[in-house]
Amino acid sequence: MRMPLIVGNWKMNGSLELVEQFGTAFAETGLPSSVEVALIPPAPYLAAMQAALAGTPVALGAQTLSPEPKGAHTGEISAAMLDEFDVRYVLVGHSERRSMYHEDDAAVLARAKAALAAGLVPVLCVGETLEQREAGQTEAVVLGQLEAVFDGLDDEQRKRLVVAYEPVWAIGTGRTATPSQAQEVHAAIRARLGEYDGDLAEKLRLLYGGSMKADNAAELLAEPDIDGGLIGGASLKTNEFLAICQSAG
Ligand code: PEP
Repeated sequence: MRMPLIVGNWKMNGSLELVEQFGTAFAETGLPSSVEVALIPPAPYLAAMQAALAGTPVALGAQTLSPEPKGAHTGEISAAMLDEFDVRYVLVGHSERRSMYHEDDAAVLARAKAALAAGLVPVLCVGETLEQREAGQTEAVVLGQLEAVFDGLDDEQRKRLVVAYEPVWAIGTGRTATPSQAQEVHAAIRARLGEYDGDLAEKLRLLYGGSMKADNAAELLAEPDIDGGLIGGASLKTNEFLAICQSAG
């Protein structure tokens, strides 16, 4: 059985006050023991979030990392630095990084390798644009992004990833993939993983991301190949995010 994973990505939102609110909410509200939860604040809040989540089962994540280990890379953050704050998960290949910061497949692979080398878990985001979906290219695009990373890793490394299917047209738009649309792509991803290794396909967690909210999470999470969610906007409200976590239990 794959343990559901719910990951909240704050993007460039939030405040120290919100960090405290989440720490209090998680300390006061029990989470189902059958669900794993992680929160990804902006990097300046990692230390405060680490402190706020102490004593709760919620893990800490980061939104991006440098592929380089150290040196003259102004503005960048290394995997080893994230590790110092007990960061467990790090996003790689988020569509906003791909489109706004020109991170191509090679850059995504380099970041995944840097994360793995430091013992972090890369959450590889893949997804098609609306134009690509309407042109019937969804599977080719998504599997291409998947292979660009998985082909560059060895068997042992592949097992340590999480994959998030995030249709670009559903991110931050309020337009969610239907459960069957999402399941269809998740099944294609799992089938492709099976070509690497049957055990990998069986165990690797596939998250759905794209306008997941408290009122649509349960039906998405009920699909057989959806093992959790990557949540943007709805992870900024304690009640909403906790409700999503509860519905995964
Ligand atoms: C995301 O940024 O990964 C995301 C899924 O955002 P939202 O939930 O706001 O669509």
